[in-house]
Amino acid sequence: MTQCFSNKVAIITGAGQGIGKGLALRFAREGADIVVAEYNAETAQATAAEIEALGVRAMPYQIDVSDPAAARQMVRDVVQAFGRIDILINNAGIVRTQPMMELSEADWDRTIAVNQKGMFFMIQAVAEQMIAQAPEVLRHGSGLADVVLTEAAGDQGPTEEELAALDSSYGKIVNFSSIAGRRGRPLSVDYAASKAAVISITQSTALALAPYRINVNAIAPGIVVTPMWEQIDKDRGRLFGAKEGEAVKAFVNQVPLKRAATEEDIAGAVTFLCSSDADYITGQTLNVDGGFEMD
Ligand code: NAD
Repeated sequence: MTQCFSNKVAIITGAGQGIGKGLALRFAREGADIVVAEYNAETAQATAAEIEALGVRAMPYQIDVSDPAAARQMVRDVVQAFGRIDILINNAGIVRTQPMMELSEADWDRTIAVNQKGMFFMIQAVAEQMIAQAPEVLRHGSGLADVVLTEAAGDQGPTEEELAALDSSYGKIVNFSSIAGRRGRPLSVDYAASKAAVISITQSTALALAPYRINVNAIAPGIVVTPMWEQIDKDRGRLFGAKEGEAVKAFVNQVPLKRAATEEDIAGAVTFLCSSDADYITGQTLNVDGGFEMD
């Protein structure tokens, strides 16, 4: 495998298990140093040990991503340990399977705090560091990315010659939405709302960070059989009296490619979005779902 990410530092949230762990190992195999930003300290340590065995540096970091102050502290700690941040993968997320009429305010608040608010403030904390790493010429002017306001502020930004001399990207951010963010979900109203918000936040932050050549994109996976889906399967079994594995099977049957995604399917798409091949892609949400959704 090519060492596409040698000398890059990647923060991957929720990398203790499931998709995040698969991503952490894939980026490590491709040469990146990895920060395993994870709520569960034990799984963070275990993933970090597997990463180090691949010959790159790993930093297990216990964090609740819903806490913006903790995100800012993590950025300071990572910069102190590794000197820089090149990639942020906002993968940590929670889901709940619950009929709409049973969803409590506390449940709603927690899902939004982790999947939506936490994701935004993690972008904000990391973007501050990525902007500081970008060339001085990109930090001139107001940094406004709004067409109308930029002109009103008389902010012409760098000249064409200055821009031509620069690299085409100074940071990659990939957020985790879901096919549930594309369409309503009667048993996961809070989750679907938070994942729809991820699509919007991805577009807004991509525009805000474009002047610094920082790319922000999102992935919308379909079904990946991780501990999260094992829990969904159990919850649906409890609600509908289905046997173990039946809910997964019912979903997979609706996938045009007739299989669930593997962690490698997701890692392939995410590493592409973080590679130089994707330097001209920003603000997009890519469905990685076997054709389940086509918008
Ligand atoms: P998972 O539940 O198996 O793993 C999620 C990880 O995130 C866990 O290690 C968990 O401890 C960590 N985490 C949860 N809350 C956290 C917090 N507050 N702070 C830090 N870490 C926290 O989930 P997964 O299936 O690997 O899903 C990963 C991402 O992909 C999620 O955002 C999920 O919504 C999204 N997704 C998954 C699927 C799927 O089919 N599995 C489909 C679409 C989208």
